[in-house]
Amino acid sequence: AATAGREAGSGGTKSSAHFVFVPLMLKGHLIPAVDTALLLATHGALCTIVGTPATAVRIRPTIESAQRSGLTVRLVEFPIDHAASGFPEGADSDDMVPAMYMWNYFTAMSLLRAPIESYLREHAPFPTCVVSDFCHPWTTELAANLGVPRLSFFSMCAFTLLCQHNVERFNAYDGVADVNEPVVVPGLKKKVEVTRAQAPGFFRGIPVPCWEEFGNYVERARAEADGVIMNTFTEMEPEYVAGYAAARNMKVWTVGPVSLYHQNVATLATRGNATAIDADECLRWLDGKEPSSVIYVSFGSISQADPKQVIELGLGLEASGYPFIWVVRNAEEDETVRDFLRELEARVAGRGLLVKEWAPQVLILSHAAVGGFVTHCGWNSTMEAVTAGLPVVTWPHFTDQFLNEKMAVEVLDIGVSVGVKEPLTYQAVKKEIVVRRDVVEKAVRSVMDGGEEGEERRRRARALADKARVAVQEGGSSHDNLLDLVKRFGMGDDAHGAAQ
Ligand code: UDP
Repeated sequence: AATAGREAGSGGTKSSAHFVFVPLMLKGHLIPAVDTALLLATHGALCTIVGTPATAVRIRPTIESAQRSGLTVRLVEFPIDHAASGFPEGADSDDMVPAMYMWNYFTAMSLLRAPIESYLREHAPFPTCVVSDFCHPWTTELAANLGVPRLSFFSMCAFTLLCQHNVERFNAYDGVADVNEPVVVPGLKKKVEVTRAQAPGFFRGIPVPCWEEFGNYVERARAEADGVIMNTFTEMEPEYVAGYAAARNMKVWTVGPVSLYHQNVATLATRGNATAIDADECLRWLDGKEPSSVIYVSFGSISQADPKQVIELGLGLEASGYPFIWVVRNAEEDETVRDFLRELEARVAGRGLLVKEWAPQVLILSHAAVGGFVTHCGWNSTMEAVTAGLPVVTWPHFTDQFLNEKMAVEVLDIGVSVGVKEPLTYQAVKKEIVVRRDVVEKAVRSVMDGGEEGEERRRRARALADKARVAVQEGGSSHDNLLDLVKRFGMGDDAHGAAQ
């Protein structure tokens, strides 16, 4: 039932590696997985990326552009079995799978194992390694049937993964009745506190039995993987990379920042989605601003804010006095928000640029006029801020974002928190204004112009960006890890030598 996508050239030779990427369709998982595949392809590997038609639509422009530049990368679509999975037709055509169909979606993905396996058997060259999103535990069976190793892919930092892992393996929440009671993460030198509400663990804490079981399945697959690929770089968090590798007894390949694969406006402008604003227009707008004067505001591809909170944020940005680019998702859904945004746009004309839905984020962040980033702390966004050398205002919404916030604020010391304590999306308990306009204003001011403290924060962010660039250059740690992956998983090399 597989439909082959456009394929590049002849693929790898006998001695080259052939990675099969099985990404998750959520943007924060998909974008870095595709970038990683393209990075491996730049080092001579063949990469086959498999996905549903909806996923393929989103990444095809990026893949085709890579193919035109001579990379051996294939995109192969596999249709969803709607009847067997109960996943309704078209439910993934939007940017997001609705929460009510998430379970059916994971079921649908697991049903792709057999068609993917047949396709891979029928289309040479035979794979040498499966690289799958950690949310696809069924890929254990795929890799086992093919007789090849499997690496788990995480667009997450080692700090967050180690914290989660330690909380779980040392049962840190046991006996803690209050989900908002701070608990010290066991097994770290640094004192880090989390609450169960902030960091329940993946697929944990959802009051539906099937997710608990799925969480266990995911954990088993993670424990049995032959290694881990992470979108981070070793020099940023050496003790956590080593700590996670030791805790899992698994080799970790840090390959980030993977966004640095993109070196030109055209590929950045299509990364992940079609942008709601013309990239050149955006750049022209930024060209007219002073260096480091603009604050960029975006909460990623999933988070949804309460209408009252959107208005409060807008008023805070306005009051800060700084020029801003604000990516507003779901802006058109609520009439009050719509009216507010229209009036705000008129008031801040020339100073504030609103992007409804999708912005060319990395392109914006890398412009010299941008001086700070108000982020929900999705790991890609956090990594992209680091890569651009920007201090951040941290405003986590859900899942790993609270730990990523700690990474930015407490470990890297490049962030100022707005003080959100509980999830705002998915497991949200309250529907009200959580962050007042004066808090937004103050946090933006301290990141953009925080006196000597602010300058030091900015210096630390820039120093990290320098390290990030070194990591991906020849001789750098991420570059070396990519080369190691290609060598290790090339045919004739130690194809099964993944673990340690
Ligand atoms: N992104 C983008 N434009 C947008 C919103 C998001 O390019 O308007 C990209 C962003 O650069 C990042 C990814 O989408 O690479 C979002 O991932 P992240 O982990 O930050 O958050 P998530 O969307 O998973 O919550």
